[in-house]
Amino acid sequence: MENGQSGLRPDVGDAVKAPPDPHLIVELRTLTPLWTGGIDGDCSRGEKESGILGSLRFWYGGILRAAGFPPCSEKNPCKDDNLCLVCDLFGATGHARRFRMEVDGLGTRPVHFLVKNKKSGLANKLMDYFPDEKRTARWAPNGFSLTFRPRAGSFEKWDEYKARILYILARIADLGGLGAKTQLGFGQVEIDQIESDQSSDTLELLLASGESVLAPKPNVPLTNGEFTVAPGRFFSLTVPFTADVEHWITIGTEPGKKKGAYKPCAPEIRELVLQNLSTIPADSFGAPGITSRIHISHPFHKAQAEEYSVKIWGDPELASAGAETEIRTILQTHHYIQRQVQE
Ligand SMILES: [Zn+2]
Repeated sequence: MENGQSGLRPDVGDAVKAPPDPHLIVELRTLTPLWTGGIDGDCSRGEKESGILGSLRFWYGGILRAAGFPPCSEKNPCKDDNLCLVCDLFGATGHARRFRMEVDGLGTRPVHFLVKNKKSGLANKLMDYFPDEKRTARWAPNGFSLTFRPRAGSFEKWDEYKARILYILARIADLGGLGAKTQLGFGQVEIDQIESDQSSDTLELLLASGESVLAPKPNVPLTNGEFTVAPGRFFSLTVPFTADVEHWITIGTEPGKKKGAYKPCAPEIRELVLQNLSTIPADSFGAPGITSRIHISHPFHKAQAEEYSVKIWGDPELASAGAETEIRTILQTHHYIQRQVQE
């Protein structure tokens, strides 16, 4: 009543602009299992939303740093109402996230890996890491969906938020991985289709809208110590994987008949690259207390593709001129990856 008397009815503007059911649904395929966090290394006991949201937020920061809109940092977080773009969308202390997200269709499956040699240090490390056979990762045999809806008060910029969210997801699918432990092969996804409150929205249109503001701009000064997708520091390579790993040894539990179209051997590929790489420091691959800045997918194949590919990406922080070329050479010449050199 008081609002009526003063003429201030803060929700009216939103109610007028908002479509009846503002939403964005993104249908995705799992190409390799996802790691969404969890207790004691078991995804089924964790909250899957937080792992996906954390990953979206991390990539949004990297995209913004590359685009010339550096967000706040851990050392200098946003204060009061003066929010950076990341906190504006994903929230900060005292500020709710602009949207809600629901995950549908993401089940679980046992974790397993393929290694060359069961007595190797790598095999022992993986067995230590996944000490019993009950560990699960996330998997969606028939695809899964993420549904985004604006929170009250965020309708006005919903079209913009929608485009940004979809652009972040598309960058993750193209260049990186979704969720955690992407340095061990988890998190390869592919966008299948979208549905939105505006019938005129297509995947292409929304992506173009996101890209128009978020695409990396050249000559943006790079921030040290924080993730960026800026060209010159970030790289992402996808190369064919044609090696025969059928005789490699399984660690963990094979997920049965429906194995899925991936070969869980990212840790072995990672070792290979690490041992052969000279252009970036070894601790870019992680060390006790240091998060890995290099990530490697399990060999996967997309819905329509016959061939397997392996993706490796990262932001090794130090000027890594030559790293991309060197990694490409390792991946194209080693028999762990390709049966023969391909041009
Ligand atoms: Zn911030």
